[in-house]
Amino acid sequence: MDLEIKGFIETSFLDWDGKVCSTLYVPHCNFHCPFCHNSGLIEDPKQYETIPAEKIEKYLLSHKDFIDGICLTGGEPCLHKNRGLFEFLRRIKDLGFGVKFDSNGTDPDCLKKVIEEKLADYIAMDIKGPLDERYDKLSGIKTDLTKIKESIKIIMGSGLPYEFRTTIVPGLLGGKEMEEIAKEIAGAKKFVLQQFVAKNCWDESFRDIKHYERKKLEELRDTIKPFVKKVLIRGE
Ligand code: SF4
Repeated sequence: MDLEIKGFIETSFLDWDGKVCSTLYVPHCNFHCPFCHNSGLIEDPKQYETIPAEKIEKYLLSHKDFIDGICLTGGEPCLHKNRGLFEFLRRIKDLGFGVKFDSNGTDPDCLKKVIEEKLADYIAMDIKGPLDERYDKLSGIKTDLTKIKESIKIIMGSGLPYEFRTTIVPGLLGGKEMEEIAKEIAGAKKFVLQQFVAKNCWDESFRDIKHYERKKLEELRDTIKPFVKKVLIRGE
């Protein structure tokens, strides 16, 4: 079965730090994050045309001189593990392109397979919040935190470049929460604070939340710095 791809940004300079990539969106997600901006892909993916793998391959091959690889995002790519995910990644690797793999970390076995079979060159995993009951408010579902913790461990032990990233939702995440998250990933190579964007949040009540000023994000960055090797702020 071919991997279902519902979105294709031909050239992105933003989705893989330091690389030029094509960004591909798969539908469906097992989370329901209130601040998600891709709810259409999750609630009603049929509204989007499915993009044939051949079209993507053709584009990549004809732009091989400047495209480094793909960023596979969604939705949640691991939900497609029995629907062509690994075969698609293998094909991309065989064509000579790199793969950045985004995940919400709910399927450590899938991540393990992606890593062991060398199907990714970079992994980005969301950490929605502190790893306790507060997580559910940010993921929108009752979350199995043992899976999230296992995924963190697998990624940190993978030998690959990676990042953990958190969308900083004002009112739910502040200095205390960020320090708690940082302690869970102590020693990690890279952590990214993502600016919250209120517009088009899945949960309408989140559309009135005002994002933190840059200065506040810098303070949060400084809270995390002692625990991880590199901390970045993404977004304005
Ligand atoms: S994990 Fe990502 S795609 Fe899934 S609901 Fe949350 S923000 Fe949206």
